[in-house]
Order: sequence, then C-alpha cells, then structure tokens
Amino acid sequence: MSEVLYRKWRPTRFADIVGQPAITQTLSHAVASGRTSHAYLFCGPRGTGKTSSARVVAKAINCLGRQEGAADPDGTCAICKAVDAGNFVDLIEVDAASNRGIDEMRDLREKVRFAPTLGRYKVYIIDEAHAITGPAADAFLKTLEEPPPNTVFILATTEPHRLPATIVSRCQRFDFRRISTADVAERLREIAGHEGVEAEAEALHTIARAAGGSLRDATNLLDQLITAYGVHLTLEQVRELLGLGGEERALALVKHLLGGNTPQALEAINHASAEGLDLRPLHRMTVDLLRAALLAKSGVRNAVDLSKEVQTEVGGLASRVSAEQMVRALRLFGGVSLRHDQPSPLPLELAVVELGMEPEPPPSAPPPVRAPAQSGASAPAAAPPRARAPQAAPPQPTARPAQPAPRAASAPSAPANGSGAPPSTPEGRLAAQWPAILRSMSRAPRAKYDVGALLRSARDHRLEGDALVVRFPHRSNSERLQEELESPACRLEVERILSEALGAPFGLRVEAEEGSGENGPRQGGHLVRAAMSLGGQVAPEPEPEPAPAPPIPTEETDNADA
Ligand SMILES: [Zn+2]
Repeated sequence: MSEVLYRKWRPTRFADIVGQPAITQTLSHAVASGRTSHAYLFCGPRGTGKTSSARVVAKAINCLGRQEGAADPDGTCAICKAVDAGNFVDLIEVDAASNRGIDEMRDLREKVRFAPTLGRYKVYIIDEAHAITGPAADAFLKTLEEPPPNTVFILATTEPHRLPATIVSRCQRFDFRRISTADVAERLREIAGHEGVEAEAEALHTIARAAGGSLRDATNLLDQLITAYGVHLTLEQVRELLGLGGEERALALVKHLLGGNTPQALEAINHASAEGLDLRPLHRMTVDLLRAALLAKSGVRNAVDLSKEVQTEVGGLASRVSAEQMVRALRLFGGVSLRHDQPSPLPLELAVVELGMEPEPPPSAPPPVRAPAQSGASAPAAAPPRARAPQAAPPQPTARPAQPAPRAASAPSAPANGSGAPPSTPEGRLAAQWPAILRSMSRAPRAKYDVGALLRSARDHRLEGDALVVRFPHRSNSERLQEELESPACRLEVERILSEALGAPFGLRVEAEEGSGENGPRQGGHLVRAAMSLGGQVAPEPEPEPAPAPPIPTEETDNADA
C-alpha cells in the first residue's frame, strides 16, 4: 500500500499529533519540565499515533536546539534530522513480533548497558510489545526493574491486556483513542490543501469514516485516491474506490430476504453473479447488515460501522421484521461458505430458498441433525456414537471422562433461546457465531494452511480465561495450527476475529490430545454438529489443504506505525 503521504505528513511536533489532546499535553509537559519517565506504554488501535508520538518524544529529549522549558524539538538540528531520516543511532526501533525483534529483546540486557552514542538519551521504541513473551519478557522485566540511566523505553501495543502485569505496572501508561471522524477529516483537508488537491468535503468525510479512527488508514486511502483520480476528488470516486456500491446492493438483498421476497432475492444474487462480481464481499456485507438489523432490534445501534443512511434503513427494517426471522436469516446466511476457487452463487441461492421455506421448529426444541450435504465417507458419519447422539445430550464429548470441561462450548441451540436477542455472554456469542468465525478464519492471512479448515477439524473448543481453547484428535493438525499462529499477521487476525465476535479480548490456545490415534477416522465432534445445525457445511476434504503460500500482507511489517 502506498504510504507516501502518510510518511510525508507524519507528526514532527507534539502539536501535529491528531486527536489525542490529553496525551499530547501530558507528554509535552513532561518533556518541557525535564521529567520524562524511563518507561512508557502507549496502547490503542492502529493508526492512532502511538509510534509517531514515541518518535516525537525521542526527538524532543535528544534535540540539540530545543529551548529551555519548551517541549517541541526544533526540527533543524543534526539529531532531529537524523531521527526524521530514520538513522539516529540512539533511537532503536524493535518490532517485537518479528523474529529479529525477539532476538533483539533477548540481547537487550547486554546492550542497554552502553551509554547513548550521540544523544542524551537512548530511546527504545518497542512495537507490538505484547509479543514479548517467555524468556524475553523475563529479561525485559529485569531491565525495567533496574533501569539503566539515560535510557527511555516506549512500548507500543494494540493489545495491552496481553502484556504481563509486571511489565505494565512499571510503565507510565497512555491509552490512545480512535481518532474522531471529524478530526481525521480535518487532517485530511489540511493534507489535501498542502498537496494542491481539491476534494469535496463529503468525500473526505467518507474516507475518514471508512478508516474507522485510524489516521494512517485514512491518509493511505487519500493517497490511493490521488493516484487513481488525480487532484480533483469527488464523493463518487471515493464510493467507487471503497466499493460502497456493494453496501446498497447488500441492503437491497437484505430487504428482500427479510421481506420474504424469495424471487427478488434470488434475482439480486443472480444479477451480481452475472455481472461477474465477487460474491464474497456481497455475502459478508449481507451478514453484516443482518447483524446490524438484529442488534438494532435489540436496541443496540451503531454497533456495525455503516453509513448514516444505511443505518437508518436498517433501523426501519428492524422495526418491521420479527427477531425470529432475522435470526433465521442470519443463521442461514452466516452458515454459507463460499469457496475461494468456486465463486458459485449456489450456496447463497440455497440459503435464500431455505429461508423462504417454512420456519424450523421453535428454538427450544432441538433441531434434528442435518445430514452433511456433500461430505465424503469420513466426517460425522464415520463416528456414529457421537454424530447420532441426540442434540439434547450434553455438548461435552463423553468419550473422555478425564477431560475437564470448564465453561464447555455451548449447545448449538443456545443463541436462539428466549426472544432471539443476541447472546450477551462470550459463550453464547461463540455458539451463535461459530460458523461465521470459522469463515472469517479461513480468510486470515496464512503461510500454508487454512485456519478455518484447521479449526473445523478440532475435536472440541471451549472458552477458558481469555482464550478459546481448541483440542485436536490429531497431533498433525494441532501442529499445523501452531505453525500458522507463529506468524504474527495470522495470529493478530485470529485474535481480532475472536475478540470482535465474542465482544471481549480473546486469544487462541491449541491443545493436542496425548496418544490420540493419528490414523483413526476423523471424528466430527460436537463442534461439527454445532456448525452443521447452524447451517454450516462439512468440507468434503477433512485435511486442510496447504495453500501455495500467498504473500502475507505487509501493511504492519514495515514498523512504520502502530
Ligand atoms: Zn533538534
């Protein structure tokens, strides 16, 4: 992704930092009065100014020309210029999530003993600080306990809850907030002005909204727009670039679905397919809108980021349609799995037709186990005792009494109890959203294996503490998943998906079962049953196929900002 503008316009002074007035004021006061801390923790979503602020601090406390009592660096001395050019020897930036970063953290205790070379302070900016674990965390903690003189550590993380409390407690913590749409739009207006770009106010506002509080994303979008359309930018171009037309298409489909207009809904899918559109974004947006409608029905507004107009439409729909109908639509559509290599409209069309058919039995009566539509000889049929177990049976696998089952994964019917409102506990959300979670996981960046497919092959899953714990009947798949999770890009995405779906921060932990038969038949487990009862399909191929290793997206790997 182009980051020319972003780099060009990143803050060089405290005054340039957008949307974090309280933090900026505290930091600049500390610098001006010479009372900086030896360790800071900057938390918050990506693109909110954590790394940029860290660099301004590094520059300010080392600047040769800073006035007595002033906070901002002069921006002109040799050190300021070296920091801006990215080659100041006493500013060490570490990406803790990278292999090199782990090595660097391990060597840190040795290296911090050396005094700064050119500046007054040696500054370590440790990005993705939550990735410091194990021996590296212990070593770093010792460093923090006996801080070397003239050294400042600035930890930046999007996930402070994953940092050891012992480290957090030794840092001065700042929580960066998502930058308001108005602030982002205003900054975009300034940048556009400096760049000689004329942009409609509504165009910039739409970019800002799409960026969801990340100035970095917003600036990069502006960059792309200028590249694509030149120096006169309109709302229409923004909508085209962002694919906002898809929102309207999905809204039309949702209206047909919830209105019971099966023929029109089929037509809408057919048109999209005939126009050669990728159906996956349409599917995703349709599920998002259904979810927004269900949440609106339950009194929760603006939980899904939608334009004001669409939000209004969704609110209107929610008032006219029963929660049961929405839950059914959400289950049927949420359970659809569109394969990357076969963009056939059939799964979506089946969901439409099924939605138009008579409702399932009331949620209190367990639905019958649906036969897997296209499974091979393996899958649940190969494990008769479990696959045929009545749905009312406890969801825990009964074959292994020794297994502790704390907060076992909920029964498939859990989300539909009561009025059909979205479940409020993580367990309930997990049960309700499992098929959607699996599909999102399949889209996570991967080195070799499809994470969604691996999770589908798990024996069971449960929530324990702040982790989703999955157990595998086969060591091979648990190892494959571990391998994938070693990639920070994949792990972060997996955690993002879980946290978003469950409404609280959750990680993923893998457990392998000792002595499990490597060659035994693949067993579906209650997880597969749950997924199926929610409309999921059992993939015909039980082993996740290694993919030809597409390049992992590099947007965070250049360590430019958090
Ligand atoms: Zn300077």
